[in-house]
Amino acid sequence: MTSTARWDDLLAGDELAHLETEPARAARTAPLPAGLRPALAEALARRGISELYAHQAESYAAAGAGGNVIVTTGTASGKTLAFNLPVLDGLVADRHARALYLYPTKALAQDQARSLAELGVPGVRAAIYDGDTPTEQRRQIRGWANLVLTNPDMLHIGVLPRHELWGDFLHNLRFVVVDEAHVYRGVFGSHVANVLRRLRRLARIYGAEPQFLLASATIANADELARALTGEEATVVKDDAAPRAERTIALWNPPLLDAELGLRASALGEASRLLAGLVGRGLRTICFAKSRKSAELIHRFAVDRLEAKTAQRLAPYRAGYTPQQRREIERRLVEGELLGVTSTDALELGIDIGDLDAAISVGFPGTVASLRQQWGRAGRRSHGLAILIASEDALDQYFMREPPTLLERHVEAAILDHANPRVLDGHVAAAAFEAPIDAADAATLGPEALERAPLVPELRHTPRGWVWAGKESPAARVPLRSTSPDAFVVVDASSGDVLGLAERERAYSTVHEGAVYLHLGRQFLVRELDLEARRAVVEPFDGDWYTQAKKETTTAIEEPLRVERRLGLELSFGRVSVTEQVVGYQKKAVADGSTLATIPLELPATTFDTEAVWFVPRPHQLDGLEAMPLLLSSLHAAEHSLIALLPLWAMCDRWDIGGLSTNLHLDTGAPTVFVYDGHAGGVGIAERGFEQFEGWVADTVTLLEGCPCERGCPSCVQSPKCGNLNEFLDKGGALTLLGRMSNSG
Ligand SMILES: [Zn+2]
Ligand SMILES: [Zn+2]
Repeated sequence: MTSTARWDDLLAGDELAHLETEPARAARTAPLPAGLRPALAEALARRGISELYAHQAESYAAAGAGGNVIVTTGTASGKTLAFNLPVLDGLVADRHARALYLYPTKALAQDQARSLAELGVPGVRAAIYDGDTPTEQRRQIRGWANLVLTNPDMLHIGVLPRHELWGDFLHNLRFVVVDEAHVYRGVFGSHVANVLRRLRRLARIYGAEPQFLLASATIANADELARALTGEEATVVKDDAAPRAERTIALWNPPLLDAELGLRASALGEASRLLAGLVGRGLRTICFAKSRKSAELIHRFAVDRLEAKTAQRLAPYRAGYTPQQRREIERRLVEGELLGVTSTDALELGIDIGDLDAAISVGFPGTVASLRQQWGRAGRRSHGLAILIASEDALDQYFMREPPTLLERHVEAAILDHANPRVLDGHVAAAAFEAPIDAADAATLGPEALERAPLVPELRHTPRGWVWAGKESPAARVPLRSTSPDAFVVVDASSGDVLGLAERERAYSTVHEGAVYLHLGRQFLVRELDLEARRAVVEPFDGDWYTQAKKETTTAIEEPLRVERRLGLELSFGRVSVTEQVVGYQKKAVADGSTLATIPLELPATTFDTEAVWFVPRPHQLDGLEAMPLLLSSLHAAEHSLIALLPLWAMCDRWDIGGLSTNLHLDTGAPTVFVYDGHAGGVGIAERGFEQFEGWVADTVTLLEGCPCERGCPSCVQSPKCGNLNEFLDKGGALTLLGRMSNSG
C-alpha cells in the first residue's frame, strides 16, 4: 500500500478539479566551504550540519566575491543558512564587523534570534532592537551586539534619524540581510526601498559599503526586486537543491449549485469536510482561511462532523498569540496531541510549525508565493498533501480551469516604485534631516531624490547641500504603509489600539460609518469616521454581513507617458487624476452575498493622482456592440475581468487596483477603459499591465470563455469592489471585444 491511500478516497468526485503529484527530489549537496572559520564550522557540526545544499554553497561563494545576493529558492529550502553562512563567517573573521537583519514583523525577528542563539557561534552577539526593546537596554545593544535584528519601521524612525548614536555600528556595517524580501512590494516596498537607500547613504558617510543579502519566496523578477529595493545589482541564486518529499496537489472546486448564476456551494463547508476527513484518518492538517471568522466557522463545522474524542484534537490558531502560545500549539501538533489547526494567514510568514501531513488553503491567498508557503507546511519529510479550495472569485475559478497557470507558470512579479513622489518626498526630507543632501548622494539615494529636493517644503539650499529647516524629525510623519501623509487612523474603541491606517483616498470607501472593516482576519464595525481628526473608530464585530461601497468615479488624463500600438488599438500608460465620491453602501450577507440593505452616505469627493493604463477600442473591435447600454456594459465587464487577472502578472491584490470604463470619455472623445493604480502616485502595477498587455488580455479571454455561467457571475465579470454594485455588465460583449483585440495581436 502506498501512502497516498491515506487520503485517496477523500479526493474523489466532481469537486476535484485537478490532481497531480510533484515527485520527490534528492538533495544536491556541496561540502562545507574550505575557508569557513573553524568556530563556525564547529557550531554547524554541533547542529549536525556537515555539508550544504548546493544553493547555500553558491550563495556563500557569491557573497564571498563581495557582491549583493538574492536567494529565491522554495519554502523550507534552507534560505536562512544561505545568508547566515557568509554573515556569521564574516563576523567571526572580523570582530569589528557588524550585521543588520531586517524582518517585516517582530515575530519573525524573534524566530531568527532564537535560531541564531541555538546555533551558538562564538563571537556572534545577536540582539533584537525594535519598539519593544526597553530604553535602558538600547544603548547596551548598540555598543555590544554585532548582529542587530530589527524591522523597517524601527530603522526608518528609530535608527537612521538618530545615526550619531549608531556611528560605530554604521562605520563597521558589513552586511544587511533583508529576509522575506517579496513582502516589500507595492506601497510598503516602495517606502522600504527608500529606507534602504537612506541606510546605504549613511553607511557611506560613515565609511562603510555594506553588502546586501536578500531572501525571497519564488517570484518572476528576483533581480529586478533586489535592484528596486537596494538600488544595486545582485546575483540571483535560485537553483533549489534542497530535498523534497513527494507532494500531492489537489485543486478543489465547491460544487456548482446554479450554473446559470454561477452560484457555488460554500468553500468553508468544503474545507470543514476535508479537514474532518483528514483528521479522522489521523493526518495532521493545517487549514488556512482568509479571515478569523472563516477560520472559526471551518473549525466549528469540522468539530460538528467528528466524534467528540477526535474533535478535541482540533484547535483554532489566531494572530496575536505570544511566541509561548505559538510554541505550545506547535509542540502539541508535533507530538500528535493536536491533529488539526485552522488559522488565518498569520502563520504564513516563515514561522515554523513543524512537519504536517496536509495543508488546506481556503481561497487563493493572493499570490503564488503565499500559496506555496502555506502548502509548504505539509510533507516536508514524508509524502504530503496540499489542497487549494476555490472561492467564487474570478482568479480562483480561473486556476481551477487552468491549473498550469498556477502550478507551472510563475509570472507574478514583485513590483514597487521608490521614485513615486508621494513616497519619495518624505524620505528626501528624512534624508536631509539625517545629513545635508548634495550631488554625491545621487549614487545612493538615486537621482530622483535630488530632483525632488527643491520641491520639498522645509528644505533649504545651503553651501553644504539641502538641509532640513523644520523642527522635529520628519521620518515620524512618513508612515511606511501609505502614500498619503494625511492617512486616517483606525482605532479600536474597545481596546484603544491603533489597528492601522487608511489612505485618505480609500478611507471613504473602506472605513465609512457602518463599514465592516477587516484587520488581520478580524472583523470590526466602523462606528464613526471623524473627517476632522482623520480617525475611524471601530469595534469588534461578530455579524454575518459585509459591506460594499457605492461610489461614482471619474478620471482625467494628466499626461500620457507611453503610447503604443498594441492589439490593434492605441494603448496608453500615463498619469491620471481620479475623483471618487462615495454615495452609499450595501450590507451583504456573508452566506450568499445577497443584499440586505442599501444605505446612503454623505461624504466629500476625493481626488488623487496616480498611474493608469488605458485603451480606446477601434470601431471594428466594437462592431455590433455600439448600442447603449450594451456598449457600456461590455466595456465595464471587460474592465472588471481584466482587473481580476492583473494579480497574475503583478503581485498585488485586486483591492490595489481601480478601474473606470465609459462609453464616452472627455479626454479621448471615445469609449475608453482605464485600469489604475489604487495608491496615489502609483507603485508600478499599471505599468506592469502596460508591459504585459498581450498576455494579460489573453488570460482574460480564457477566463471569460471558460466560465460556465450564462450571463456573468462573481467568477468572471462581477467584482466585489465595483462602485456601481455590478450593474451594467455584459459578459458576451466583453468577450467579443477582448477576443477581437487578442486576435489582432
Ligand atoms: Zn461567470
Ligand atoms: Zn464596476
